[in-house]
Amino acid sequence: MIALHHTGGQTWAVFGLARSGLATARALVAGGAQVRPWDDTEAARSAAETAGLRPVPLNDAALAGCSGLVLAPGVPLTHPAPHDVVAAAARAGIPVLGDIELLLRELQPANGIGICGITGTNGKSTTSALLAHVLQQGGRRTALGGNIGTPALDLPRFGADDSGIYVIEMSSFQIDLTPGWKADIAILLNITPDHLDRHGDIETYAAIKARIFAGQGEGDTAIIGVDDEYCRRIHDRLAAQQSGRRIVPVSIERRLDDGISAIDGKLCENGREVFALDFAALPGAHNGQNIACVYAAARAAGLDAETIRRGIASFPGLKHRLQRVGVIDGIPCINDSKATNADSTAKALASFETIYWIAGGKPKEGGIDSLRPFFPRIRHASLIGEAAPAFAATLGSAVPHRLCGTLEVALDDALAAARRDGIEGAVVLLSPACASYDQYKSFEHRGDAFIELVARRGAVTGAAA
Ligand code: ADP
Repeated sequence: MIALHHTGGQTWAVFGLARSGLATARALVAGGAQVRPWDDTEAARSAAETAGLRPVPLNDAALAGCSGLVLAPGVPLTHPAPHDVVAAAARAGIPVLGDIELLLRELQPANGIGICGITGTNGKSTTSALLAHVLQQGGRRTALGGNIGTPALDLPRFGADDSGIYVIEMSSFQIDLTPGWKADIAILLNITPDHLDRHGDIETYAAIKARIFAGQGEGDTAIIGVDDEYCRRIHDRLAAQQSGRRIVPVSIERRLDDGISAIDGKLCENGREVFALDFAALPGAHNGQNIACVYAAARAAGLDAETIRRGIASFPGLKHRLQRVGVIDGIPCINDSKATNADSTAKALASFETIYWIAGGKPKEGGIDSLRPFFPRIRHASLIGEAAPAFAATLGSAVPHRLCGTLEVALDDALAAARRDGIEGAVVLLSPACASYDQYKSFEHRGDAFIELVARRGAVTGAAA
């Protein structure tokens, strides 16, 4: 935990008492501040009471006299409408901040402590976890948190002599709540229209994402994927500024003479091949973008190319994202339960040549029409959940398929089809293109169920797989 000593003697309001909110309240109390915590749900309030906090309704009177309001990133700040508590904070004239702002104020990162921030529409968690792993393998003290895993204020405290690096995944919501954000190394992976319900329009969303580079100057590094038009514009704007920061463009579509490319199975630095992209845990072109950004960041942190390559090669992959969970009769079973929409599933289908596909769940708008270009790779589809009939209608005669109902029946159906065909390099891929709520509590719950089903069928796992 990072005790917030700079808040000692002050009073802070904390709204939203899930993991990051509770961590914030603890860090404030440990730093000697008074805390007024609140959450709209009864369950969260009683969890806070169990943790020794005393919830206080955050009305105008309670907010008056507070030094600020710490808002959980899930609470609407602007769109579709500011939450009541945000409006009340405005009336009280107090700032509304996130936990990462308090972390930065406390650490005042300077000599020796590095801040590395990662954002983008897709690939944030993979890139953050991979970068933390590579830096750690390269001998750097590293702490990974923010939007992934550990709340920022639950991370360990590095001292100025530790040469420690905080790798912080930043959602747009968190960037929005961190007015003092400044990273030594900042990565913007990509921008596609998403989450617009919370940010209004794509221009606003892109402007928030661009703030990952805020405050950078001499000695800092900005790493930016330049394959989409929004990021390209941000890159051009950064390049036109006289900030003194280093700008590293990244592409998976073009070989860049002055940047990092992941193209034709190779990672290239300033046009020259550095190593082959043959990492089993990170398949697909989209992971090329994640790897290239990690490479650029690790280089900026002082690691050499071979150390970085070895670090990437030993990355076990992230759970539920193209996770190779085991091999049954020579057929790898891949858990991509995180793919809750057709866009994410497109990345998975693009990553393998011969696919026995398990899909379905609670349908999302638009269905799987956009996946037609990948149909030739799908040898057979085993469909589950509410979306199954609609998916079957879209697949039509183009892809053999069966309505399986449950994941268990679907896994056996997919394995049977794969065994029957006996095609080398074939995979069984759970990439649902649907939410999980019709049959499971969450995509994690669905992915865990898949892992267990695969294990129960005697899969070979670990390095042998
Ligand atoms: P995030 O944390 O941004 O949600 P994740 O790393 O958890 O991203 O990946 C979620 C899904 O997004 C993956 O399963 C994959 O389908 C897709 N994805 C990952 N990296 C990228 C990328 N660089 N570009 C586009 N899609 C990606």
